[in-house]
Amino acid sequence: MKKIKITFEFPPNSIKQPLTYRLIKDFDLMLNILSADVSLNRTGRLTMDMQGEEDMLEAALDWVKKQGISFKIFEKEVIWNEDKCIHCGACTAVCPSGALSLDNETWKLTFDREKCLICELCIQTCPLGVMGLNGDNASLDT
Ligand code: SF4
Ligand code: SF4
Repeated sequence: MKKIKITFEFPPNSIKQPLTYRLIKDFDLMLNILSADVSLNRTGRLTMDMQGEEDMLEAALDWVKKQGISFKIFEKEVIWNEDKCIHCGACTAVCPSGALSLDNETWKLTFDREKCLICELCIQTCPLGVMGLNGDNASLDT
């Protein structure tokens, strides 16, 4: 089994594609949608974790390409240097997914990597450079 984090970009004429249904039904993949910005008549964007057998993942991505949908697979990971964090909360204000939040009781920062969209906003925002990236982005864009 292999798990990847991926963002799909739909041209306006592909918005009605039942993408998630086909990925699950035809390729036996497990999906965890992290963010969706899809409206009729404009480009849509869908970010998710996709898990399944490697050959099925490859076949699914081949199929996606044939539908005219482009995508980017993330191989980077956001790293939080917890020891240097002063828990100021500035990064939580820009985090679009809720991956970064301050604990209600301790007021300490918590980081839920599963929710991270690797948008890098926290990296740009942190005044101490506590957030960083590990690895490289591999674009398998069509
Ligand atoms: S902005 Fe930086 S120092 Fe402040 S809570 Fe976030 S990671 Fe910690
Ligand atoms: S990169 Fe930072 S701001 Fe963006 S989703 Fe991940 S934790 Fe949140």
